[in-house]
Order: sequence, then structure tokens, then C-alpha cells
Amino acid sequence: MLQALCPDEAHSRLVDIDLEGLLQKGIRALILDLDNTLVKWHEAEVSAEVDHWVDQAKARGFKLCIASNALPERVKLIAGRLGIPYVSGALKPRRTPFRKALMRMDVVSQETAVVGDQIFTDVLGGNRLGLYTILTRPLSRKEFPTTRMLRGLENWVIRKLIQEGYISNWR
Ligand SMILES: [Mg+2]
Repeated sequence: MLQALCPDEAHSRLVDIDLEGLLQKGIRALILDLDNTLVKWHEAEVSAEVDHWVDQAKARGFKLCIASNALPERVKLIAGRLGIPYVSGALKPRRTPFRKALMRMDVVSQETAVVGDQIFTDVLGGNRLGLYTILTRPLSRKEFPTTRMLRGLENWVIRKLIQEGYISNWR
């Protein structure tokens, strides 16, 4: 049970992800969550820091695709600003949106990582498809009411993962 919810890496900030390290692991494509991963929940403004990180990933040759459960309009706007493809209305943790993202980038699961702030959508969904999974801390405390309800359980899982030594650098 815990295995399915366990990310391969966890970082307090998106920009702490070691892109070189991922390349060395054979990862060359990233499926990126939108809300509270790339932008604060329900906002459309990408911070300079995140923008720079996306540029760094592109410069290293990573293929990128946003996969978000949010509605198309805002996802399209931000994907357009960042110049990357997207899958919206994604219904993560279902496998379909992740498969679509793999198709958009023309890559296979073994060379792809999922990056997101939620264990029950991003990490669980990515693990179900055998993707490399990276958990980041949510950018904001504001979020969808159902997401907020799940956070209590999620924080319990994270504490468990820390106790068992699966997550170490969580500040
Ligand atoms: Mg999110």
C-alpha cells in the first residue's frame, strides 16, 4: 500500500530538483502538474524562479508536458506561456492522462518522471504506470476543497514515509 504512494524523490521546492541527476538516471521527459506545482493554486502567474527552472530543463533537452486535473482554459494559457504541451481535465490518478502525456512527448514510461505536489493524484498515478515520481511541497496553502480534505491523510502518509526512511529531505 505504502509502496504505491511512495515517490522516488521528494523535494521541498520544484527548483531543488536535480535535473542533471535525472538525466544520469535515464530520465529525459517530465510530466508536470500545474496547480501548486508550477503555479499557486488557481493562479496563472508563473514565478521567475519556476520560469527559469523550466528553461533550464528545456536547455538540457528534457521534453515537458503539463498534466492537470484543472479545466482547459487556464492550463492552455500557462502551457502557452511556457511553450510546452498539456493535457487538461486529466482525472489523475487515472492512467489515461499520463499515457496521453507520454504520447504528446513521444516517449516511453521508463524515461519519464512525474512531478507534482499530491500523493493521491501525481505520485499514485505515476507509480501505477511505472513512471519515476517526484513529490514537491505545495506552493500555496490555498487549494480545491476536496484536495484540502485529503491533505490530512496525505500528511500522515508523508510522516510515515519519513519514519520508514523513504523521504529524507523534506523541510
Ligand atoms: Mg497540484
